Amino acid sequence: MKADAIVIGGGMVGAALAYGLRRQGLDTLMLDEGDVAFRAARGNFGLVWVQSKGFDCPEYAAWTRRSADLWPDFSDEIEELTGTGLQHQRPGGLHVCLSGAEFEDRTRQMRDLSERSGGAFRYEMLERRALDNLVPGLGPDVVGGSYSPLDGHANPLYLLRGLHAGFRALGGRVRLDARVTAIRRTGATYRLETGTGKLEAPKLVIAAGLGTKPLAAMLGMTAPIDPVRGQILVTERARPFLGMPLTWVRQTGEGSIMIGESREEVGFDDGTRWQVQARIADRARRIFPFLERARIVRTWGALRPYTPDGLPIYDRPPDGADAVVASCHSGVTLAAVHAGVLAPAIAEGRLPDDVGGLGTGRFHVH
Ligand SMILES: Cc1cc2nc3c(=O)[nH]c(=O)nc-3n(C[C@H](O)[C@H](O)[C@H](O)COP(=O)(O)OP(=O)(O)OC[C@H]3O[C@@H](n4cnc5c(N)ncnc54)[C@H](O)[C@@H]3O)c2cc1C
Repeated sequence: MKADAIVIGGGMVGAALAYGLRRQGLDTLMLDEGDVAFRAARGNFGLVWVQSKGFDCPEYAAWTRRSADLWPDFSDEIEELTGTGLQHQRPGGLHVCLSGAEFEDRTRQMRDLSERSGGAFRYEMLERRALDNLVPGLGPDVVGGSYSPLDGHANPLYLLRGLHAGFRALGGRVRLDARVTAIRRTGATYRLETGTGKLEAPKLVIAAGLGTKPLAAMLGMTAPIDPVRGQILVTERARPFLGMPLTWVRQTGEGSIMIGESREEVGFDDGTRWQVQARIADRARRIFPFLERARIVRTWGALRPYTPDGLPIYDRPPDGADAVVASCHSGVTLAAVHAGVLAPAIAEGRLPDDVGGLGTGRFHVH
């Protein structure tokens, strides 16, 4: 089977890129290994989040802001095309601090982030009294927090569904159960082997989450992407009470309250541990004491594709061939910029200047 472009990975990054490439008119084939995969796309929290991104990397901070700005139109476009609403809202977001020391640290971080952005990153540090006007029900441990009007949230499952449906609606082709096991290049053509057949295209995108590392190696690229587990708790539905998402607590469009999150390096283990969940629940209870009475109806663990410095990877192979490796641990936040900016650049055989510093060269030991 032949196509103009093949995207390996039908998760949050691959689906956004495949959608964006098809939108540019390329005959695009999206491959996914199916339900055996560790899919971050199915286990995440749903924040479209700016205020904690790129503390030490202004380029990543700007890329994130750009995506958050594109999200409203992107969300409308997917809804119009597919009928799937992504429940995107941008009421701003809040990061609460539970001690004076946390508040001081946060104040410094936010000031640095804003200074390095030349003022483009907008935020306010809010003392406790000001927070009470924004969010009801806060507990006595909350001393203040940072608010950014740039933050928002969406339903990540509808996002994944919408991207797949949008891709198909535009005429994109999808092969599920197509685990790529080998990549070879002959002249200007990439030839891929999967358990279910051979495929070829002159343009290749590897966006396979935790499957990216071995696939990138087939192109002679080092992509150090390893799993970092996060755990999430979900309560039964409640009356709408939370007008904006918090870093660790958000109310979904259906009313349930999602509570996260954690970071554990436990390899390819997407299980749960009650000790971690107890810590997550305790922090949520200190933020909103009424949550102590809320019933948890679901919990899960999921694996983020994580790089050693926590930044995304966007790179092309050293031989200059027409391929791109793309990975990040903020696939919801960056979906709009992946579909709307990265994919058009890839269609032209290049990467956008915005991400020039996010290549794999930064991991090479000199
Ligand atoms: C607990 C948790 C909370 C999160 N919260 C947020 C959040 O609030 N906001 C945010 O922006 N992001 C969040 N994320 C991160 C987000 O989910 C990821 O950035 C995103 O899913 C990564 O997308 P991906 O396409 O790279 O990987 P995945 O979504 O994991 O998809 C990779 C796909 O590649 C396929 N694949 C792998 N190997 C092969 C192969 N050899 N052949 C064919 N197909 C292959 C798999 O089948 C899989 O479907 C969170 C993640 C976790 C785990």
